[in-house]
Amino acid sequence: MKLDLIKECGQAERIGISGHVRPDGDCVGACLGLWQYLSGCFPSAKVQVFLEKPAEIFQEIKGYGDINSEFPEEEPFDVFFALDSTADRLGDAEKYFRAAGKKINIDHHISNPGCGELNYIEPQVGSTCELLYDLMEPERLDRDLAMALYVGMIHDTGVFQYSNTTPATMEKGARLISFGFDFPRLIQETFYQKTYLQAQVMGRTLMESIRFLNGACIVSMIDRKTMDFYNVAPKDLDGVVNQLRNIEGVECAIFMYQTGVLEYKVSMRSGEKVNVAEVAAYFGGGGHARAAGCTMTGTFHDCVNNLSLHIEEALKKWAASHD
Ligand code: 5GP
Ligand code: MN
Repeated sequence: MKLDLIKECGQAERIGISGHVRPDGDCVGACLGLWQYLSGCFPSAKVQVFLEKPAEIFQEIKGYGDINSEFPEEEPFDVFFALDSTADRLGDAEKYFRAAGKKINIDHHISNPGCGELNYIEPQVGSTCELLYDLMEPERLDRDLAMALYVGMIHDTGVFQYSNTTPATMEKGARLISFGFDFPRLIQETFYQKTYLQAQVMGRTLMESIRFLNGACIVSMIDRKTMDFYNVAPKDLDGVVNQLRNIEGVECAIFMYQTGVLEYKVSMRSGEKVNVAEVAAYFGGGGHARAAGCTMTGTFHDCVNNLSLHIEEALKKWAASHD
């Protein structure tokens, strides 16, 4: 059943919104889109977004400058939204969600069982922004809101390329660009464009990648020391794993960056043969069938060996069912 945003927030004086740590385009678009929408619907309510500081490429989205990236103690919110995330991936905003009078969870991750009193989880929908579009009253859309939701859609569908793109996604995208924002520039600047440094690091990680399982799998890793040397943060590494996935013959791409002594953040992308959400879930992470992640401990080789077992299993299962 659809969630009635206006009804659920009707009496609220203070509304909070947050999304997952290391926010991506869908997360930022969804938080700022909902912020714009609820601020418009409820001018006398205080609506706030709490989010780890997003990349500056998103600064054109209305509300970017109003994002709270500090998380002081607050009186409980009347309503708090967790978007594109489970409660335990909200980072420092988790405490607001837990204490809120009403907890609402809107997400499209298949690994999310729903963590609010009210849950709108639709794993077959390509982005949280597309979900929000469905929940918003169409006549309340304007140019700024359209742009925010469009950013989320293009980021999570790879500019309408991935299999999570449906005819309905395209119809919604069409309606959004009818508001007249500069979408070619938005796509270029938020999705494709890299800084020179990001391109250099991308080049290095591609150069150092290793193929295994007869080329069906590829892995690359960047350690702390190298990240410090280039002065790059995790958000500078967005796109590396997609580039690995683009290599001919690759069914599953893995990219890892070091987060601590013997600790790595793992990103995976796959084609139809491997469900990486299942692989990631096995190691305590989650995501989507074709894009997922987790945090792993051990040496780089331990991590790759452990992942490899599950990926090989998935490839075998796929081969057996396609004889
Ligand atoms: P990325 O590889 O771009 O960081 O993430 C790919 C997808 O997997 C995203 O939808 C992201 O939210 C999800 N994801 C990445 N890492 C984790 C994780 O550690 N836990 C969970 N539950 N999801 C993750
Ligand atoms: Mn998303």
